[in-house]
Amino acid sequence: MEIKAIRGFNDILPDEVGKWHFVEETAREVFEGFGFSEIRIPILERTELFSRGIGEATDIVEKEMYTFTDRSGNSLTLRPEATASMARAYLEHQLYTFDPVAKLYCIGPMFRYERPQKGRYRQFYQIDVEVFGVENPMVDAEVIVMLIHFLRRVGLEKLELQINSLGCRDCRPRYREELKKFLKQKAFQLCEDCQRRLETNPLRIFDCKVETCQEAIADAPKVNDFICPECQKHFDKVREYLEAAGLAYILNPRMVRGLDYYTRTAFEVVSYQLGSQNAVTGGGRYDNLFGELGDFDSPGIGFAIGIERLVSLLPKDREFVQYPHLFIAALGVETLIEVYQIINQLHLEGIRAELDYEGKSLKSQMRRADKLKARYVLILGENELKQGKAVLRNMETKSQEEISMEGLIDILRKKLL
Ligand code: ATP
Ligand code: MG
Repeated sequence: MEIKAIRGFNDILPDEVGKWHFVEETAREVFEGFGFSEIRIPILERTELFSRGIGEATDIVEKEMYTFTDRSGNSLTLRPEATASMARAYLEHQLYTFDPVAKLYCIGPMFRYERPQKGRYRQFYQIDVEVFGVENPMVDAEVIVMLIHFLRRVGLEKLELQINSLGCRDCRPRYREELKKFLKQKAFQLCEDCQRRLETNPLRIFDCKVETCQEAIADAPKVNDFICPECQKHFDKVREYLEAAGLAYILNPRMVRGLDYYTRTAFEVVSYQLGSQNAVTGGGRYDNLFGELGDFDSPGIGFAIGIERLVSLLPKDREFVQYPHLFIAALGVETLIEVYQIINQLHLEGIRAELDYEGKSLKSQMRRADKLKARYVLILGENELKQGKAVLRNMETKSQEEISMEGLIDILRKKLL
């Protein structure tokens, strides 16, 4: 029986990977320009990091984690997100002793046991950005500005920035109670999951995709009517800074974000090209996360971009595939050793050159050059070689010229790079 990949786990094939490189390189360039540094963290962590960090009563921890016991009996989990691990690394290596402010990003795969569908996979990639150690609302605006700048740089359009404030440890409990009271009257309308959420984490009902739950929650009290004066002040400042940066946004009081650790500012960027899985990125402030993980308390804010969804939105008219600069069509066995030496030279120069390994006819070699979309073909026959010449054909214009074998590499470098 043929072995296939696991459901929800994708191969990124060579003709797609150029888009990934482009996205990742642009991310590195933009974020480093904003003063962020890359951090690389493990894919496996102790399960406790996520159950404590993300919160027991979240979809992720309740039903989406890949958790298993290793050979020593430790409970380990494939990371479902990166924030908790990044916070752990900041604490574990006491990065704050050098400077409490840490601006970090990481790029890599996340794992969630969700129902696979378009835009939703079990292994998917995120670009994750975090700032630890700053409570000032200016930094909330700064990361949002950077995010939008990045999304525009990769060529996304029709973006909508939605923001909300979720309050804090002091004011959110009161809202939770109000929401609970309101939804209790509508409990009969709620799906089984949401009936449970009503007790454990009623805010999550906003995220439920079931229609009757959406109806039940339509006129629910809004979180930002309940936030305390301190949170209100913080949120007003975030908006002021966003406006000062010339960024348009929409207030979405129903956007609550799925994880427990979020406080105050929450944001999402939605694309209208995506259909139902339309959130490209989400993020927010999480001033309680560190308190859950250890004794060192610190504010934090960040976001995560889903690379698959982002890649699916890249402009269609851009070329991301690296085609060969040159195809060498060689005729006759005598030429092979020469061709081998030439192609080695070219590769050392960074010229993408291909050749035919099979000794096929010129016609079939030209066909292959065409299929590979090589820009030029260097035609080398035994006679030409004897005369110290070769023919260079421009595959786009179909024009040909004779070039001398002497200084060939130099000539090709000038022409092709
Ligand atoms: P959604 O509401 O779509 O489930 P989320 O709130 O769970 O998203 P986050 O945990 O905030 O998402 O992750 C940030 C981004 O990661 C999302 O906006 C999305 O682009 C991407 N993402 C999340 N889950 C998946 C998945 N299962 N497959 C592919 N991309 C995903
Ligand atoms: Mg989700």
